[in-house]
Amino acid sequence: MALSLRKCNKYQGENNSQCVLSISSGVLNPEFDLELCRSGLEMNGFQIPESDLEAPLKMALTAPSVKRYITFNSSLFHFFMAPVLYIILWCAVFSSLHSYITVTDYWVLCLCVSLVSIFLTTAIIFILHRSNKEINMNLDVRLIAVNERLVKHKLLVAVADWVENCTSNLQLYFVYWDISHCLRALTETLEEQNYESRNIQKKLQKRMSHLVLVSEVPQIQTEPQEGDVEQDTDEHRPLLQEEQESSTTSDQKGAHQPTTSLSLVPDTGLSAQVKAHQLLMTYSALYMKLLVSERLSGPSHYRMRPKRNHCTTASLCLCQYIRTKILR
Ligand SMILES: [Zn+2]
Repeated sequence: MALSLRKCNKYQGENNSQCVLSISSGVLNPEFDLELCRSGLEMNGFQIPESDLEAPLKMALTAPSVKRYITFNSSLFHFFMAPVLYIILWCAVFSSLHSYITVTDYWVLCLCVSLVSIFLTTAIIFILHRSNKEINMNLDVRLIAVNERLVKHKLLVAVADWVENCTSNLQLYFVYWDISHCLRALTETLEEQNYESRNIQKKLQKRMSHLVLVSEVPQIQTEPQEGDVEQDTDEHRPLLQEEQESSTTSDQKGAHQPTTSLSLVPDTGLSAQVKAHQLLMTYSALYMKLLVSERLSGPSHYRMRPKRNHCTTASLCLCQYIRTKILR
């Protein structure tokens, strides 16, 4: 299952969707050199403080469970899994049929078993391939916290991988993206549909209700510094921090480690602009992954409306992706 990945050519200017930097890692031990990230970004004119770059990236990508997820969900794993799966299915189907059906011509049985196994293997690989185009909790959602910080520097990140000549290529991509145009367009869309806000909320619930974060509450919580909360507008408050502030609930009374949960569905009472910002952040890593993997599929009429597209190299820009996949 080879995928073509967008080449990260020399960064030449401020165009949405232009790849600024890509960093490779081995798929068996996914680890990205963050010092290399910093020097590469600085060479391209991006001066980003440590708190906006290394700290959130480390938190998102260095947990052992995340590394395991990246390895077992990689294209290389799927690539080698296909023949193994085929052999297992062939043996299982053959032994099942052989026990119940008496066949004189074994070649007929073998042919039928092979066809059934090919069909089942293809179906399973197809389902896995399709699920890779959906937002996943283990990587895309973890990268929300990184993108919430990097978007201030007009950058968004994603992790994408593909197989080439039986070799895995796993890369962390930094893509230039000025979110202001998408934010304005998506806010306008939500405001236009304000009269049917109940319908919009139902659609968001339907498509995002599975996006629930469960995290452990730290035993010792530091007091927020005076003035911080007042200075943060709703739009710029990180989604993942909101989780800890808003839901230190009765779970704390649990016997062991208390947990909190946060739904990523935007609240009904939020303004259109805040909702739009939350949606853009939630789907930013998934969109960037599809963009660099050249797996974005959009209706052709969007190509005929370049003014509505804030990215010149893809059929859909981020706000259009959310409009077509989530709000429609
Ligand atoms: Zn847009």
